[in-house]
Amino acid sequence: MARHRTLRDVRSLQPKKRLGQHFLVDPHIPEKIVSSAGFQSSDVILEIGPGRGALTLPLSKTISSIVAVEKDVRLADFLRERLSISGISNVALVCQDILRFDFNAIPLPPSRKIQVIGNLPYNISSPVLEKLIHHRQGLGRAVLMFQREVAMRLTAPPCTKGYGAMTLLIRYHARPTRLLEVPRSAFYPVPKVDSMVVELDFTRPYPSRGVGEDDFRKAVKGAFAHRRKTLLNSLKGYLPAWTPDLLMKGMKARGIDPARRAESLTMDEFLTLASILAVDKRETD
Ligand code: SAM
Repeated sequence: MARHRTLRDVRSLQPKKRLGQHFLVDPHIPEKIVSSAGFQSSDVILEIGPGRGALTLPLSKTISSIVAVEKDVRLADFLRERLSISGISNVALVCQDILRFDFNAIPLPPSRKIQVIGNLPYNISSPVLEKLIHHRQGLGRAVLMFQREVAMRLTAPPCTKGYGAMTLLIRYHARPTRLLEVPRSAFYPVPKVDSMVVELDFTRPYPSRGVGEDDFRKAVKGAFAHRRKTLLNSLKGYLPAWTPDLLMKGMKARGIDPARRAESLTMDEFLTLASILAVDKRETD
């Protein structure tokens, strides 16, 4: 009886576009995501946007402690009931906006890290990433579904269309890996774009960073400010305090041709560029 009541309820819950509600309805995909995530049973998992529980239920079979944060009160109520009917007691469901959620509220044994999973509402992918970066010290791996174009940008190699500021700023803090392509037909309602699951491993930041994040960010943003221009011209416009001559000398001295375009520079070359700007800043301060 109770099971029938739940199924009828979910059909009456109209998906809300503004909350990015596209639910996984292909039963094979959640299993594939959970198995490719490879979490350990003793891991503490934070799930972002559990919705109707497509990922939560398979996860709950293997993981002992899950905190699931859902903003939509209708879905939180539905999922709470679904979990209770299924006799699942290892999921703490929190009805809150993930952007306001306090990560420190997750009970964590000493020296353990939070593992994150989520089929993200695409309209908040960027602020969620910023929040994860902010809390990176307490995080292990984050296994997240993005719209495919964003996933390609996060994982793009140099000299490809997707390679840009987002690729580099993420790589500074975490190692990204493409895990799984998910076609739009796996969702209800069917979105306009395909998706991809990406793992961000915050325990593996870029190994030889050498410069602070602010200098790195400035170099990346400046170099990509005008993607079609040369490095020198793009940086010139972005950093008016640096004379073109100083920029050119600094780059040439460290083996970076100022006539190159930002998209051709590797992570190591961006770190070199950042260290030049850091030195120049000290000279001009
Ligand atoms: N995980 C479910 C699935 O795969 O079927 C639902 C995924 S759906 C793309 C995104 C979910 O995130 C929805 O349940 C939506 O209500 C929820 N959501 C949207 N904005 C949120 C926010 N700011 N904080 C927490 N959850 C949010």
